Amino acid sequence: MKDATPSDAAYVPSALQDFLLSDEDRAFRTEVRGMLASALAPLADRIENQDDWSAVKQGIRAIGEAGYLKLMFADLYRGSLSRPGLTHATILSEEAAAINYAFETTIGSALSAAYPLHKHARPEVRERYLPGILDGSEIGAICVTEPDVGSDSAGMKTRIRYDGATDEWVIDGFKRYISNASVADTYIVYGITDDAAPAQKGMTALVVPKETPGISFPRRYTFVGRRGCVVGEVRFEGVRVPAANLLGDVNGGFRIMLGMFNFERIILSGAALGVARTAFQIATDHAQTRVTFGQKLGCKQLVWDMIAQMSSRIDAAELITYRAAKLYDAGLSGKDLAKPAAMAKLTSTETACFCADRTVQVLGGDGITKEYGRAEQLFRDSRAMPIVAGTSEMAKYLIAGADMPALKPNL
Ligand SMILES: Cc1cc2nc3c(=O)[nH]c(=O)nc-3n(C[C@H](O)[C@H](O)[C@H](O)COP(=O)(O)OP(=O)(O)OC[C@H]3O[C@@H](n4cnc5c(N)ncnc54)[C@H](O)[C@@H]3O)c2cc1C
Repeated sequence: MKDATPSDAAYVPSALQDFLLSDEDRAFRTEVRGMLASALAPLADRIENQDDWSAVKQGIRAIGEAGYLKLMFADLYRGSLSRPGLTHATILSEEAAAINYAFETTIGSALSAAYPLHKHARPEVRERYLPGILDGSEIGAICVTEPDVGSDSAGMKTRIRYDGATDEWVIDGFKRYISNASVADTYIVYGITDDAAPAQKGMTALVVPKETPGISFPRRYTFVGRRGCVVGEVRFEGVRVPAANLLGDVNGGFRIMLGMFNFERIILSGAALGVARTAFQIATDHAQTRVTFGQKLGCKQLVWDMIAQMSSRIDAAELITYRAAKLYDAGLSGKDLAKPAAMAKLTSTETACFCADRTVQVLGGDGITKEYGRAEQLFRDSRAMPIVAGTSEMAKYLIAGADMPALKPNL
C-alpha cells in the first residue's frame, strides 16, 4: 500500500500563521503535536477502519489527562502556558483533526459542555460534572437540534417546566443529530420554558446526567465519513432533574447557547484547517512525485492552479481563524464576536471541503481509493463541516446581518 499520508517534517505551519501566533503559542503547538503523535496517532487506524468509539474515548482521556481540555479555563489550567485560552484550544483542535477528525468532534463537544458548566452552573453542580469532562473520563453532549428545528434553533419544541411540589425541572422533547448521543455521561439540554415569549427570552439550559430515568437513544446515524463518532437521537420523556441543575437564569438559555456557538465555531475552524492542511500536503507530495506524460504532475499548469488555490485559501482561513481566537482571548464576546467567529467558520470549513475535493482530483484514482492513503477519508470527513455548528448559509446571515444592522434578514 502506498502511503499518501504527509510526512511529519513536511507538515509545518505557514509563515502567515507564524505571524499571528506568539513564540509561546508556537512552542505550545510543538508540545501538543508531540503529545498527540504518541497518544492519538496509534489509535487512528482503529477509528477509521473499525469505526471504534472506544479508541476515540481513549484518545480523549489522554488529552484530558494531559490537561489540554482545561485550556479555555485559566483558573483550572496547570500547564506550561502563561496565558492559556481559545487560541490554544484551536491549535489543539487543528492538530487533533489533522490526525483524525473524530478526535476534534469529541474535543468540541467536551468544551461546549464544559463552558456552560464552568460559567453558569451552581457550585455543587459544577463540582459534580465539570472535573470528569475536563479530565476526559466523562463525555459531554449538547442537545439543541430537533427533527423540525436545525438552523432555526429558536423554534425548538422541547419543553421544560418547573414542578414546585418536588423542586425539579421536567423535560419532554426529542433531539436529533446529537454528537455522543448514547455514549455521553452529561447532557446540556436546551428547551422552552416560556411559550409566550420569543425563544430568545423563553429558552432555558439544564444539566442532565445520563442515568436520569426517561432518557432513551432511539437511533445512531450512519454518516458520510466521521467514522468512530457516535451521533444519534436523544429522547426525553418526563425527565426530572433537581432545580439546582439550571444553568444561568430561567429563560436565559438562548444567550448561553449563542456564547457556546461563538467559541465552538472557532474551534471547528481550527479542525477544518487541520483537515485542509493535511489534504494540501498529500496533494503537493503527490504532484511532486507522480509522473504523467513524461513529466512530474506538478509541472502542469492546471495542477499549479489547484495547488495555488488551495494554498491561498488555507492561508486566508488561518488568518481569519486565529484572528477570531485572539479576539475571544482579548475579551470579545456575544454579538461582537459573532461575526468574526462566523467568518472563521465559513471560510475554514469551505476551505476544508475545497482542499479535500481538489486533493482527490490531483491524485486521480489514488485519491478516491482507500488503498492509497487518506485523501478519500478527508474528502468524506470534511463534508459535514459546513453543516455542523450552524451551516454556511447561517454564517452568512450572521456576517451580512452585522454589516447591515438596520436590515432584518429575511430568514
Ligand atoms: C455530524 C453532525 C453532528 C452534529 N452534532 C450536533 C450536536 O452535538 N448537537 C446539536 O444540537 N446538533 C448537532 N448537529 C446538528 C447541526 O447543528 C444541524 O444539522 C445544523 O444546524 C443544520 O440543521 P438541519 O440539519 O436541521 O438543516 P436545516 O436547518 O433543515 O437546513 C437545511 C439546509 O437549508 C439551509 N437553510 C435553512 N434555512 C435557511 C434560510 N432561512 N435561508 C437559506 N438557507 C437556509 C441550511 O443552511 C441547510 O443548507 C449535528 C449535525 C451533524 C451532521
